[in-house]
Amino acid sequence: MPLLPRRFERLKAVLNRRMGDLTVLLEHVDKPHNLSAILRSCDAVGVMEAHVVSLPGRPRTLNDTAKGSQKWVELLAHADGATALAHLKERGLRIFGTQLGVAARDYRACDYTGPCAFVLGAEKWGLSEATIQLVDQAIFIPMQGMVQSLNVSVAAATLLFEALRQRQQAGLVPSRGEGIEPLRYQRILFEWAYPEVARWCRQQGRPYPELNGEGTILEELPRTQRLRC
Ligand code: SAM
Repeated sequence: MPLLPRRFERLKAVLNRRMGDLTVLLEHVDKPHNLSAILRSCDAVGVMEAHVVSLPGRPRTLNDTAKGSQKWVELLAHADGATALAHLKERGLRIFGTQLGVAARDYRACDYTGPCAFVLGAEKWGLSEATIQLVDQAIFIPMQGMVQSLNVSVAAATLLFEALRQRQQAGLVPSRGEGIEPLRYQRILFEWAYPEVARWCRQQGRPYPELNGEGTILEELPRTQRLRC
């Protein structure tokens, strides 16, 4: 089915609001429904990608809870917490690590309007000690009940929507694609609009074709690929 102009406009409208400087790092969060729910919240808030460190030998699986958000939020894997944090810090992100201990700060007292990442830990154990040592600021969501902690996906959503709220209040939420570097914007727009052609281009090691303003591919493709447009 050809890409309809309305669909292309919708893809652009969503991409225009994406924030390349807000993300999550999930350390050993491996329950499919939690991973899926977190990706869905990332999409809802306008997060470009989520970072994960998996337990050795545990495959990353998503389920229906994701509602297809894995198509719109990239999942980037890292070997361990230190490597992931080094990567995020190199990009200039301030690292907020979730921790239930007394050393942590109430999440509402922190500023998330600058580039930042939330680090969330395993369902059973929370963040590893090594990762806690590397975060810039430990934060917690105050609890009023008998249970000590929230489900990790609920904690992720709470933090992400607080970051969105603060950025909206400060007038810092992008609206014209300025939250993403131009080359990345073009790459993702093509992948969202033509996922199968994009896959074929990557397999062939060729650059993605250019699109015109209506989202039409400005290049003659082999017939097999034209049928996928
Ligand atoms: N026993 C674990 C601990 O002490 O950290 C509980 C882990 S909790 C179920 C899983 C993850 O959810 C945590 O690592 C954290 O990322 C997040 N989380 C849950 N409740 C939270 C809260 N009140 N404040 C901040 N993060 C929370």
